[in-house]
Amino acid sequence: MTNCGECTRLERVKEEARAEGDYSKVTDCNVLLKKHPDHPSSAPPESPQRPEAPKPRKART
Ligand SMILES: [Zn+2]
Repeated sequence: MTNCGECTRLERVKEEARAEGDYSKVTDCNVLLKKHPDHPSSAPPESPQRPEAPKPRKART
């Protein structure tokens, strides 16, 4: 589902919590997974706020 190490860890914790019937913990993990910050695939941790490169727009005649 994801290559993110932290998300993978949370998924495991979630599965364990579900197996134990600890659904409040499952919800907790879901929240953490949802609001998990930068993923390497989408945004490199070096530059969390990457300014968009200016795209040269050629005006059509
Ligand atoms: Zn993640």
